[in-house]
Amino acid sequence: MIKKFIRKILGVKNPDDTLDQGKASAKKNKPKVLSAKEHGIDPALVSNNAIRITQTLQDNGYKAFIVGGAVRDLLLGVKPKDFDVATNATPEQVKRLFRRAFIIGRRFQIVHVMFGQDLIEVTTFRGAAKHEAPKDEHGRVLRDNTFGEQHEDAVRRDFTINAMYYDPASQTVLDYHGGIADIRKKTLRIIGVPELRYREDPVRMLRVVRFAAKLKFTIDDDTRAPIKVMAPLINNVPSARVFDEMLKLLMSGHAMACLQQLRKEGLHHGLMPLLDVVLEQPLGERFVTLALANTDERVQQGKTVSPGFLFASLLWHQVLEKWEAYKVSGELPIPALHLAADDVLNTQTDALALQRKIGTDMRDIWAMQPRFEKRVGKAPYKLLENNRLRAGYDFLLLRCASGEIDAELGEWWTDFINGDEQERVRLLSIKPKAKSAESAPAKKRRPRRSPHRQSSGKPKAAPTE
Ligand code: ATP
Ligand code: MG
Repeated sequence: MIKKFIRKILGVKNPDDTLDQGKASAKKNKPKVLSAKEHGIDPALVSNNAIRITQTLQDNGYKAFIVGGAVRDLLLGVKPKDFDVATNATPEQVKRLFRRAFIIGRRFQIVHVMFGQDLIEVTTFRGAAKHEAPKDEHGRVLRDNTFGEQHEDAVRRDFTINAMYYDPASQTVLDYHGGIADIRKKTLRIIGVPELRYREDPVRMLRVVRFAAKLKFTIDDDTRAPIKVMAPLINNVPSARVFDEMLKLLMSGHAMACLQQLRKEGLHHGLMPLLDVVLEQPLGERFVTLALANTDERVQQGKTVSPGFLFASLLWHQVLEKWEAYKVSGELPIPALHLAADDVLNTQTDALALQRKIGTDMRDIWAMQPRFEKRVGKAPYKLLENNRLRAGYDFLLLRCASGEIDAELGEWWTDFINGDEQERVRLLSIKPKAKSAESAPAKKRRPRRSPHRQSSGKPKAAPTE
């Protein structure tokens, strides 16, 4: 159905024919070879481990190049965050040459070569896509693990700027599809017939958006045009893969720009439940914007970002809404918060393919929030010992900054965390201003109890304890 519709809209008669044309032109395709002087890559930006790998492979008679995003980033003068290597050695042959090498077989077989904490992905050149490769009913390639020539490998990569090969030994760049020219024009251009390439792998539509936002490149008209029509194909991609791509997008250091671009390309609607939540919740918009700006800043400063914190932020206003509803129905605040967290996690875990660990982190961060309101007795000291305090506290500050709760609470905790014993005693003697609305049921406010009594006999307040 979708196939027919796409053909009709885009006038592609038989997309498989275009594949043949693509293959024919790739065969003729000789790469443009650029010398160090022409491409200007700074060798100091190249990972020593990637050089070790290409060198070892070449010493053993194989071809080996740094490839993909790393070459693109090097050409842009940016230090790549990771390095991939492409070779004509098979995964087994690669594995034999390195002490810590592991064959990973998901969609494509690749080898992970480890040097300490550093991981380099080594892939064998892929052959031209085969007609007989198993596909789903919409044309998405399910498995295709044939090896091939380097020019075939180049044609199977997604964008021209991601299809260049760098040989650290000779310091030459091989450019098969005009990637250098596109880098200079700041243009994202898909290799081959766009409709066909998106149909083979709809995730490429998310990738083009991520690269456009991250690199501040323009999407070429032909590459961009089919996206609006083909966007629904993303629904057929396994949710774990969409999740991986979403995570890359959110942690790219340009999450806000990426989400805006997704919206612009019509890729957000109904495709990813999370995006609908993020982009269309008026109440949470300020919170989410701040959370994403904060994440972008951390990534850009080279700091770590936890997916748990990120998703806890993205879904917080859903939790707040449900928390309120449970309180209105008469639940006590803490159990109400747990019920709300359960509801949100139950719905989103499947929809987003959230890993269990991320879900646990999210719940810990949410569950800690009411505990920040207890500013008497031993409770604040207990919280200081919590090894998740940092995440919970950062989350509290975000809530303050978004105007959801009084800034004074965040300031109190900043002082308490940083203060010496004398300062802490002083802080504990301050009578907090008005109590926040969250700490009591919305309808029937109960008299305030001591923190000890509040938690006794009730479901556990915080699993982090
Ligand atoms: P990043 O900076 O995010 O790592 P990248 O381009 O290196 O960007 P990766 O996901 O690491 O992205 O992929 C490495 C390379 O593999 C890409 O540059 C591209 O050549 C190829 N590639 C990755 N995903 C696809 C895909 N879905 N279709 C075709 N080629 C792909
Ligand atoms: Mg990469």
